[in-house]
Amino acid sequence: MTIAVALQTLAGADARQEAFVRRAVERLGEAVARPDFVVRIESASYTQTRWAPGKGPWRALTPAEIAARVRSGCERGTEPDGTIDLWLELIDLPPPSGGKQVLGSTALGATPSRTARWFVDLCAERGDALNLAGHLLHEWAHVSGFYHWPDNRARGDTAYVLGRLVREALEDRHGNEIDPEITAMMHDVETDCGCHGEVEGES
Ligand SMILES: [Zn+2]
Repeated sequence: MTIAVALQTLAGADARQEAFVRRAVERLGEAVARPDFVVRIESASYTQTRWAPGKGPWRALTPAEIAARVRSGCERGTEPDGTIDLWLELIDLPPPSGGKQVLGSTALGATPSRTARWFVDLCAERGDALNLAGHLLHEWAHVSGFYHWPDNRARGDTAYVLGRLVREALEDRHGNEIDPEITAMMHDVETDCGCHGEVEGES
């Protein structure tokens, strides 16, 4: 069954931002609908894969379990429906400074996914809907219960890998849209996304 993406709500966006976010959502839908997307998730390597259910202790999921969770479209606490539902809010976060960027701030297992307005503006200005699409799945991973540990410098954890796979899945069709500086910002520079796994029972 094909995985779908549905934009449920989008708050805090002006007309231009909304148009570009919708384009990124469309790109995300295109990425996850590809038959090889699940295979990519299953064959990727991860530095850590911590996932916290609503109740009970965290677990490290296997790549196959991560793939199954994405395919199920389960946010934390929703039933499997094969749809990645997005409740999005654009918020004001500090613009990049001194090599530090804050792209988003999503609370673990909770909606909405929060994205920095400056990041949407930058992606729109550069025409890079692929990296924004990757970011949307990264933040969705937090809504679904995945978190960064011990901190968000752990590149290669589930949220970061999922974001990268979205971009890679679309490179052949839309690679011309990718802005290398935004790619570097998302994957090579310290980027604080605000979901560090400050979970009950986690210390
Ligand atoms: Zn994150």
